[in-house]
Amino acid sequence: MDKQKVDILISSSVWDPKPWVEGLSKSDLVGNIHVWPTQADLTNVKVLFVWKPLDKGVIDLIPNLKWISSLGAGVDHLMTDPQIPEHIPITRIVDPFLARDMTNYVIMGLMMHQRSMLRHLDNQKSKTWDRITYKPLKVGVMGLGALGGHLAEKLVGLGFEVFGYSRRLKRIEGIKCFDESDQKEFLSHAEVLVNLLPVTPQTVNILNKQLFSSLPKGAYLINVARGNHLVESDLINALDDEQLSGALLDVFWEEPLPPSNPLWEHTKVTITPHVASVTTPNSAIALLLDNLKRLREDRELLHTVDLNKGY
Ligand code: NDP
Repeated sequence: MDKQKVDILISSSVWDPKPWVEGLSKSDLVGNIHVWPTQADLTNVKVLFVWKPLDKGVIDLIPNLKWISSLGAGVDHLMTDPQIPEHIPITRIVDPFLARDMTNYVIMGLMMHQRSMLRHLDNQKSKTWDRITYKPLKVGVMGLGALGGHLAEKLVGLGFEVFGYSRRLKRIEGIKCFDESDQKEFLSHAEVLVNLLPVTPQTVNILNKQLFSSLPKGAYLINVARGNHLVESDLINALDDEQLSGALLDVFWEEPLPPSNPLWEHTKVTITPHVASVTTPNSAIALLLDNLKRLREDRELLHTVDLNKGY
């Protein structure tokens, strides 16, 4: 690619684009930065940074587009968008801070569950002295990628018995690993199930009645990947039937979660508003600029998405 400064378009319908614009504009690799929606001529734009679905027709306005990056770890908002041409490489954020924050969130949820923290908080309100006991827990991590792999290793360090599940069989010290052919066996161990899979046609609705019935009775679910993984009505039934003892949910089919959604009021569900791990612009910008340098030097981009796998 020619070595001129590169013009960028940012489309972020959820996050404030300001810190991204400010951070990127400090680099001498970067030319004009446009923020969607804009009336500007985008002919010179070569790079598109996106968080959450692109408006229809945006790609048509960028005839010289060379690279698209998600501003988060997930790329489901790009994989299902028919306007994105197959020849444009798509990358995503793989950032140690994102992995650290996800791990910390899951550990928080796991500990709150193991130590019955919500019950202790209730008991405090009624001045009740109830020494609820706790037991060691076996944790199943679905998805052993950048986030799930990091989490699984940290959980081993904390003394949990950890079971891991991925598409291809992994070998990770201290973790009993399973692949798709052994899903049932994996699930049978998971007293706490943490979902860190990407959304693909194979994983949509994977957290369903059948899967819940393969977990040990009274298992606890932590869904931090995507709402599209979960059949919400199946979860509610599994909680009401006591097949599951509770769930910590950070992601939902519809976000913000509508006030009418019954999950809000379910006594066994704890909800957070998609904050398990949020991209930190400063560290992500360093990764984006590294890839921008690679693009200009016609080198391979880091963290590209495999369109065949869909993640
Ligand atoms: P990666 O792509 O690094 O890892 C995905 C893992 O899932 C891999 O181990 C992969 O297997 C496995 N996998 C994919 N498809 C299947 C399948 N059909 N069956 C079994 N295993 C499968 O993703 P990340 O770890 O970076 O991120 C995971 C997800 O976390 C993101 O897609 C995003 O949706 C979510 N996320 C949520 C956030 C939040 O705040 N709630 C923040 C950031 C991300 P293999 O190793 O064999 O390829």
